[in-house]
Amino acid sequence: MRIAVVGSGYVGLVAAVCFAELGHEVISVDNDTQKTAMLQSGEIPIHERFLPELLAQHRGRAVTFSSSLLEAARASQAIFIAVGTPQAGGGQADLSYVESVARELAGAINAYKLIVEKSTVPVFTHDWIRKVMLLNGAPADSFDVASNPEFLREGTAVADFLYPDRIVIGVDSERAAALLREIYRPLTDGTYRPSMAVAAPDHPRRPPKLIETSAKSAELIKHACNAFLAMKISFINAVANLCESVGADVRQVCDGIGGDSRIGPKFLNPGIGYGGSCFPKDLAAFRMVARECGYDFRLLDEVSNINADQRHRFLRKVRNALWTLRGKRLAVLGLAFKGGTDDVRESPAIAVVEMLLKEGCEIHAYDPAAMERAREVLPAANMSYASSPYEAANGCDALLVLTDWDEFAGLDLDRLAAALAYPVVVDGRNLYDPAVMASRGFSYYSIGRADVQAARQTSGASRSV
Ligand code: NAD
Repeated sequence: MRIAVVGSGYVGLVAAVCFAELGHEVISVDNDTQKTAMLQSGEIPIHERFLPELLAQHRGRAVTFSSSLLEAARASQAIFIAVGTPQAGGGQADLSYVESVARELAGAINAYKLIVEKSTVPVFTHDWIRKVMLLNGAPADSFDVASNPEFLREGTAVADFLYPDRIVIGVDSERAAALLREIYRPLTDGTYRPSMAVAAPDHPRRPPKLIETSAKSAELIKHACNAFLAMKISFINAVANLCESVGADVRQVCDGIGGDSRIGPKFLNPGIGYGGSCFPKDLAAFRMVARECGYDFRLLDEVSNINADQRHRFLRKVRNALWTLRGKRLAVLGLAFKGGTDDVRESPAIAVVEMLLKEGCEIHAYDPAAMERAREVLPAANMSYASSPYEAANGCDALLVLTDWDEFAGLDLDRLAAALAYPVVVDGRNLYDPAVMASRGFSYYSIGRADVQAARQTSGASRSV
């Protein structure tokens, strides 16, 4: 099928390349001409596993890049909208990018078109897209608007797209349903043969279930899904805080909770809270949508309050470990909002670094992918960037773990201890085993587990203060 994907960001670019991988002819459109030029020349503006290899296979053949929405839409049967829907002032989603695409699309109708929302949008957005297109002269029977929410996660986006748990299509006409079924058929009938090895996520359902709903339900599914996941994170963070109060171990508690098949072990990882470009804004938008529709969804307020509190609790942990903060030299591992991505939007790691800088700390940070983006948002004073975790740790009073990169979990602990001025680790992602940290001579503070005071602590602590 000929497909246009509007927006070549984390979702749009992955979707475009993966649709090409499924055998479709795709034009990826972005009005950021610099980004489009980069993509045309084979450069990739984001860090995403498997994307460079897959793009190299399909660029210039099954997937091309353009900054002309009009031309791309005219040449395509289905047009996926994957532009940003950031948070507006009052918490609601800013849908102006979606509206502007809808307006332009109205002028591109030269035959029947299926317009598909892939961006995360509030319920009723499909109606608004339709109204805007009609107002701008698109004939009523020349297009349908459907919803096809995207559930990929940054860091594992390609694998998530090609091996999804399920595919949701929100359709209000049989014609739209038939086209979307056709687009995803290689996945749903199990005939997709990968052109290269992409490690599938744990336990993918094969073939994935295709869930057909109304457009309204599909829009709600995406918001409800993200709100539920955020709630699970805040829930386990609250439980971890209780574990700290009573001296229980949150790992043991998570094993016990996650072993219940009704709950499951995923998203039961206590830490410094969720972030990223989706959960915070989607939760706020869902809250607003509910309010506008007459339901006061107060549960969501508490989810975001617990999340915000988690960063302040972490700061208190750092203070407890180091006594005073002014002038302390701190190594920070991780700036991305989670491991596997260079995305720092709403990153809790960035928020913690900002708080520490305000307290007068000197920060030496390392992140495998996000340092360039972090530089754009963090102040330059008292901030430096290292080329390895060990370089960041060199001569520091403590090391803080703020992002759950796999490579941090496998660091050489002896080398780290030797690099640090004092063997103090405050782990906001529970990447290490407290018993192992104790055996290596660290003072170790984590989330929802007992603190470890190193045997060397007496000399370390007195040096440290
Ligand atoms: P992004 O900011 O990375 O990309 C959006 C792109 O759209 C940008 O490149 C921008 O230049 C382009 N754009 C904006 N207006 C345009 C226009 N009029 N014409 C052409 N291009 C235009 O955003 P993202 O992270 O890919 O998210 C896109 C949507 O997908 C959002 O609604 C988000 O909530 C949703 N979503 C994101 C994720 C994720 O993990 N990032 C996952 C699922 C859903």
